[in-house]
Amino acid sequence: MHQPPISQLSSADPELARLVEAEAERQYAKIRLIASENYVSQAVLEATGTVLTNKYSEGYAGRRYYEGQQVIDKVETLAIERAKAVFGVEHANVQPYSGSPANLAAYLAFAKPGDTVMGMALPAGGHLTHGWSVSATGKWFNPVRYGVTKETGRVDLDEVRDLARNHRPKLIFCGGTAIPRTIDFPAFAEIAREVDAVLVADIAHIAGLIAGRAHPSPVGYADVITTTTHKTLRGPRGAMILSSAEHGKALDKAVFPGLQGGPHNHTTAGIAVALGEAAKPEFRNYAQAVVDNAKALAEALRERGFELVSGGTDNHLILIDLTNKGIGGKPAAQALDRAGIELNYNTVPFDPRKPFDPSGVRLGTASITTRGLEATRMPRLAEWIDRVVGAAAEQDEATIDRVAAEVRELLATYPMPGWSAHTP
Ligand SMILES: *Cc1c(COP(=O)(O)O)cnc(C)c1O
Repeated sequence: MHQPPISQLSSADPELARLVEAEAERQYAKIRLIASENYVSQAVLEATGTVLTNKYSEGYAGRRYYEGQQVIDKVETLAIERAKAVFGVEHANVQPYSGSPANLAAYLAFAKPGDTVMGMALPAGGHLTHGWSVSATGKWFNPVRYGVTKETGRVDLDEVRDLARNHRPKLIFCGGTAIPRTIDFPAFAEIAREVDAVLVADIAHIAGLIAGRAHPSPVGYADVITTTTHKTLRGPRGAMILSSAEHGKALDKAVFPGLQGGPHNHTTAGIAVALGEAAKPEFRNYAQAVVDNAKALAEALRERGFELVSGGTDNHLILIDLTNKGIGGKPAAQALDRAGIELNYNTVPFDPRKPFDPSGVRLGTASITTRGLEATRMPRLAEWIDRVVGAAAEQDEATIDRVAAEVRELLATYPMPGWSAHTP
């Protein structure tokens, strides 16, 4: 059952309670490899389920528009102080509703509609909000995009520099959603400085690795750092903007009143709890284990003939190009889900197929690491992925069912925060 228990919900709204229980059970029963997801602690779950959701608090601590902020000011200040300490920054805004609005705040603070902005192309691994055409950021600004080199699958910094020199963007985004390699923040900073652009490091995926010292930090290089709080950082769904004191005022104004109304105080509380967890020494072990698991899984997949974009990984993320396996990303992802292995289909750089039916799948090791799976389990996981991908190509449902049973057997020995097989 769900932990903490949802007994009141069960009696007041059994229909919804059944859905929550079903989702908790589903998260328990799957090997969750979606690179942007995790399992938050029960402490984070409790914080996000509190009466703090009842309170309106537009503005910032000491400068609110409604009365009754005696406690909320302290909650938000606690989250801010912890964010500053964990990441070593002078300023933190913990109010953005999610990663996309956090990025919008960077635009609002430093650019005007029609200005040139630069980011990684979505099909190369960038995010929609880095100026992709269907996003407001691609419609209201003039986007220039960099990609990766075909041979290496890595960002070509010479291309980034040439584009920056030719187009003189106001903002440069680095970071993305499908980048398996270390982001070279010093190199991006040098390019941004040369063309007088504001460098935004979007660390949504790798924030937990940075907090746990398993990936270099952009602090001291990027002018603005945006991040979600719910990916490797393992907090509730939300976001933060980190910066020097110098840029703090413009960013705060962009978030409120520029883009948002009242902050989600229950989320802020959950972020504070997650940051408290990230400050503990154990979190460094977790961050390192996430990377160790990804490297072990990448190696085991390569031994089985899987082609990995960039040849491997430095972080939590692996991007597989399935072209040589004779199956598209979508049917492979669907078959893996039936086998209890959950991931997402994904475009690979220079993908000849359509975004809704691309050539690849994306995997991440944050959730399974939180769950406690060790690097020694990764060869088995690679074997399951291999068997299922092969079975899917041959419509062999019996093999997929057999793997599903093996997955269930393994997971029974790994408890999950947020769900318990036993009634307390
Ligand atoms: C996930 C992500 C976002 C957006 O976060 P949402 O909370 O889904 O809006 C922005 N940038 C990057 C790089 C991301 O990975």
